[in-house]
Amino acid sequence: YSTAAAVEEPIVPSVSVSHTQLLINGQFVDAASGKTFPTLDPRTGEVIAHVAEGDVEDINRAVSAARKAFDEGPWPKMTAYERSRIMLRFADLLEMHNDEIAALETWDNGKPYEQAAKAEIPMVARLFRYYAGWADKIHGLTVPADGQHHVQTLHEPIGVAGQIIPWNFPLLMYAWKVGPALACGNTVVIKTAEQTPLSAFYVSKLFHEAGLPEGVLNVVSGFGPTAGAALASHMNVDKLAFTGSTDTGKVVLELAARSNLKPVTLELGGKSPFIVCEDADVDQAVELAHFALFFNQGQCCCAGSRTYVHERIYDEFIEKAKARAIKRVVGDPFRGGIEQGPQVDSEQFEKILRYIRSGIESGATLEAGGDRFGTKGYYIQPTVFSNVKDDMLIAKDEIFGPVQSILKFKDLGEVIHRANSTRYGLAAGVFTQNIDTANILTRALRVGTVWINCFDVFDAAIPFGGYKMSGHGREKGIYSLSNYLQVKAVVTPLKNP
Ligand code: ADP
Repeated sequence: YSTAAAVEEPIVPSVSVSHTQLLINGQFVDAASGKTFPTLDPRTGEVIAHVAEGDVEDINRAVSAARKAFDEGPWPKMTAYERSRIMLRFADLLEMHNDEIAALETWDNGKPYEQAAKAEIPMVARLFRYYAGWADKIHGLTVPADGQHHVQTLHEPIGVAGQIIPWNFPLLMYAWKVGPALACGNTVVIKTAEQTPLSAFYVSKLFHEAGLPEGVLNVVSGFGPTAGAALASHMNVDKLAFTGSTDTGKVVLELAARSNLKPVTLELGGKSPFIVCEDADVDQAVELAHFALFFNQGQCCCAGSRTYVHERIYDEFIEKAKARAIKRVVGDPFRGGIEQGPQVDSEQFEKILRYIRSGIESGATLEAGGDRFGTKGYYIQPTVFSNVKDDMLIAKDEIFGPVQSILKFKDLGEVIHRANSTRYGLAAGVFTQNIDTANILTRALRVGTVWINCFDVFDAAIPFGGYKMSGHGREKGIYSLSNYLQVKAVVTPLKNP
C-alpha cells in the first residue's frame, strides 16, 4: 500500500487549541455542570483537548440568549445590508485564518490538510459570501387577489433556529446551516458533533470579531442524546435543522413533533448509485468512481457507494479499480500528497471493519484492502469488492468508509430498477457519453442530485438534499432560504376615493 507508510510519529499541527468552552451570548463559558469530554486525534487516538460538555441547562441558556437576541436584539431589526456586511467581514477573516482553521479541522477530523486548506475552508468563506449576498434580496410579493384588497406577503425570519451537525465536514456543515439562518435574520443555537467540536468555536469567535452581536450565534458542544435532544425538543426553538444518520433523523423529528411541532429539515444517509454505462471510457470512469467513493475517507452522505458497471466493460473496470485503490496514498493527513487519512474515531473504524468482514462472509470477492492500515490510529486500507449482489449488507447499508462495492448490470431498465431499490435517495452518478442515456437515467432516478460525468460538485448555489429516507428539504442555493423564513400575508381593504 501507498508510498507513505503508516506514520509512527505524527506531524505536530501548526496550530494550538485556543477555545474549548461553550460560546453563549458572545462569551466563552464552562458547561453548567463543569463537565468536559476529550476530543481525540484520529491519527493516534490521543487526546487533543478537553471540551466543555453541554447538556440541558446549557442548551436552555443558549436558547434564552438566542431568543433575547431575536426578540429584542439588533439582528432581525438591523438592516439587511448591515447583516450582509458582517457576514462579508467574517468571510474575509476566514480567509485570513484559512491555514489555522484547516489545521484544526484536520487535527480533529483526520481529513487531508490539503483538502481542508485548499478546498473546504475556502468553500466555507464562499458560502458565507453567497448568503451575505442574499441577505438584502429577500422580499415578499404583491398578490393580485380577487376583490377590493391590497394584498402583500412579508418574508420574515422564523425565529430561533436549532441546528445539529455531524463530524464529516464540520465547518462546511456549519456554513450550510448558519449561513442561510443568519442571512434571513434568525438567531442560532448550533450543536457541533462530539467528534469534532474545535473548529466551530474558533470561527465563531472570528464571527464576533466581524461585528456579530452577542446572542445571535451560540455554539454548544456535547453529545446527541443529551445536548442534541434538548435542542430538538426545546419549546422555545422555532426551527430545527439536522444533518446526520437516518436513525437519528427519525429521533429528532419525533422530538420536534412531540414538543412544539417546530419544522425540521433533515439531511440524512445515502447509498448512492454510480452507474457506469457501456459506452464509458473505462479509465475515466474508474477514476471518477474511485473519487465518488473514497473522497473524505468515504465519509460522505452522498458517497457513490454502489458502483454499477455494465457487463461489457465490467472485467476491465474491476482490474483498473483495484489497481487505483492499491495506489491510493494513505497516511498522516498533515503530510503533502496524502489522499486518505484516518477515519474519524474508533466507533466508525470498528463499524467499517465489521462491514468488510460481512462482505467477505456474504461471498463478495475482495479485490483490494480488507484490513486496517498500519498499527496505530484509525486508518483503513482502501477496499474494493467485486461480485457484489444487491441483497448483501455492503450493498444496502451506508458503510461511511473507504469500501467500494462493484455490481454488474446488463441494461438500463434493470439498473434503474436496482438503483432505485433502496430506502435512500440522496444522489447518483451517471457516466456516459450518450445524451439519451443520460436523460433517461436523470429522470428515472429518485434522488436529490444527479451528477453526470462528474461527482461531488458542491457549489454554494446548487441545492442539496434527499428523496425518500435521505431527508426533507434542500440546503444551499435559493431553496435553502425558505427553511428559515415565515410568510405573512397582509390584507388591506382598498377604499374608493
Ligand atoms: P453519526 O452516527 O454519523 O455520528 P449521528 O446522526 O448520530 O451520526 O450524529 C449526527 C449529529 O446528531 C451529532 O451532532 C450527534 O451528536 C447528534 N445526535 C445523535 N443522537 C442524537 C439525539 N438522540 N438527539 C439529537 N441529536 C443527536
